Amino acid sequence: MDLYLDRLLNLPNTTVESFTEEENKITLKLRFLQDEITCPHCNTHGGKLKQNRPILIRDLSVFGKIVYLNTPRRQFYCQHCQRHLAQSSK
Ligand SMILES: [Zn+2]
Repeated sequence: MDLYLDRLLNLPNTTVESFTEEENKITLKLRFLQDEITCPHCNTHGGKLKQNRPILIRDLSVFGKIVYLNTPRRQFYCQHCQRHLAQSSK
């Protein structure tokens, strides 16, 4: 969404989809740019996305406001080594 925010966060393959600002809290909603991952065990590309559920991470405080990262925690399944793989942006 916002290239400046993306650069500020500096998380690979992640973009800021939206952000909301409340009285003393900023929530950044993150989105991954890739739908496939490379399995770290067998190096096969194309782990299948099984689950995608958001988690809220409390990050740094900026300008006296607490920053939360609403980041998808995704779980993949590698058919090659038949393992579940978790991926999170942090
Ligand atoms: Zn694998």
